[in-house]
Amino acid sequence: MKIADRITRLGTETAFAVSAEAAAFAAQGNHVYPFHLGDMNLPTPSTVVDGAIKAIRDGKTGYCPNTGIPQLREALAADVSASHGVSYTAENVAVQPGGKPVIGKFIQAVMNPGDEVLYPNPGYPIYESQIEYHGGTALPYGYLETDDGFTIDIDAIERQITPRTRMLILNDLQNPIGAEASPAEFERLAEIVRRHDLQVLCDEAYFEIRYSGASRSFVSLPGMVERCVVLYTFSKKYAMTGWRLGAAIGPRNVIEVIAKINVNDESCSNHFVQYGALAGLTGDTTEVKQILTTLRDRRDASVAALNAIEGVHCACPEVTFYLFPNVTGAMANMGFDDYDAFRRAVLEATGVSVCTRLHFGRAIPGEINRYIRFAYSGIDTDQIQEGLARLKAFLESGGT
Ligand code: PLP
Repeated sequence: MKIADRITRLGTETAFAVSAEAAAFAAQGNHVYPFHLGDMNLPTPSTVVDGAIKAIRDGKTGYCPNTGIPQLREALAADVSASHGVSYTAENVAVQPGGKPVIGKFIQAVMNPGDEVLYPNPGYPIYESQIEYHGGTALPYGYLETDDGFTIDIDAIERQITPRTRMLILNDLQNPIGAEASPAEFERLAEIVRRHDLQVLCDEAYFEIRYSGASRSFVSLPGMVERCVVLYTFSKKYAMTGWRLGAAIGPRNVIEVIAKINVNDESCSNHFVQYGALAGLTGDTTEVKQILTTLRDRRDASVAALNAIEGVHCACPEVTFYLFPNVTGAMANMGFDDYDAFRRAVLEATGVSVCTRLHFGRAIPGEINRYIRFAYSGIDTDQIQEGLARLKAFLESGGT
């Protein structure tokens, strides 16, 4: 068949290709240490599981309202209002089959072809894909490395804004970098958003994946709640990546448009899964807290082991389950210039499977430092230690 022209503009998530490569390597009898995908090997809390099973038994197996069951919309509005210091109601919530669909639906709802959209790079690759697929112009902004993490390159944002710039995509807390914006960064961004009349997608997929302190949402800044749509997901907090449930939360007129897209795309999100999520939101949180404790132990093990490798420097983020170590020295020591050659050599020599910076967007001109991304959400601490000891031996072995 002939494929439509617009498909040439549709990108993908190349981390899934790394995953397939790692699986093929494992199928040849090799041991793989999976650091490549932000999937989770932790069980979904039993409150959620029990809630969903009960809903199946109770016959919640037909279609439900296309914006989600009212109880879940209400519970989400109450939960997010409390954590964000704003006042959403059920009408501000459209339940989705995952957080990811919010990206494309928001873009379809507010972006006209030819509009410019600022998006993070390195960042979640679906932003660029959806902007370009729907005929927008994608303007990447980067992050600057500091002594203890990364900050948004806000100057790069300001420099690129033109009268055609309509939207800002903000991913705080950030994948793949593990960055968290400071209050000063938020203030400056909010001022830019107001001055240039931008609409904002706040991708908060990791809002509740944090090990100390409290998350603060961009929507809580003055004037932002009416300009922002929040991407909410159950995937990470409740270890529910495969259940596929999330929500778009924002101004009613945008939520109504997104609801109309729901009708066109999937009619409704899975009915009984919504009861499971509702039980998770309103029930006992012991197992949810245990997920964070486990992830924190893994983070500590990963950061310590990575920083023990010559030519590797890794910050220790309090948020997300990603690390973005600077491997410029290690690549140079080993004589690698090409990211993918380096990644493959690491996989073949050690079984450690990672993504590189290039899985999160094209390199920004002038970018000198090299980074790889470690996800520790799908690998146990003993495997982290074993894999990273092998990585250390390889990277300190002195060259190809
Ligand atoms: N946004 C970011 C930044 C992500 O990293 C992910 C998943 O990894 C998502 C959105 C979407 O997740 P899901 O569709 O599972 O909710």
